Amino acid sequence: MSEETTMIRPFSAAAFDQYIAEHRLMAARCTYCGGLYVPPRAICPKCHSEALEWAETSGKGKLAAFTVIYSGPTFMVEQGFDRKNPYVSGIVELEEGICISARITGLDPSRPAEIRIGAPLDVEFVEVGEGEAKKTFLAFKA
Ligand SMILES: [Zn+2]
Repeated sequence: MSEETTMIRPFSAAAFDQYIAEHRLMAARCTYCGGLYVPPRAICPKCHSEALEWAETSGKGKLAAFTVIYSGPTFMVEQGFDRKNPYVSGIVELEEGICISARITGLDPSRPAEIRIGAPLDVEFVEVGEGEAKKTFLAFKA
């Protein structure tokens, strides 16, 4: 049996990131009330149940809000983003009705007036670095 069927990963940010590295966008689902949570929660905030399970999302959604980032966090600066090369960050509303914040690719940060709220988006897993230093970041592409 695979690890997947024999053990449940903890509902932690580290486990969420591990799934991202495996190119899976996972949410924690409350088996009692059906609530879905990204990032995952160990206790359902709606009904306080601890009966959660991992559920894979469709990875499809739409742009709910966005901002053009000129001065990002270190890991984005390391990827070459700065004042001269900004990127788009947004809130994505997934088909499942939950929202997640991520980098949005495929949009032109120099023309924010042309970026449309409600534009359809697909999950994208951006790999940065090589070998041991390789990291996978969650993004959505327009
Ligand atoms: Zn619940």
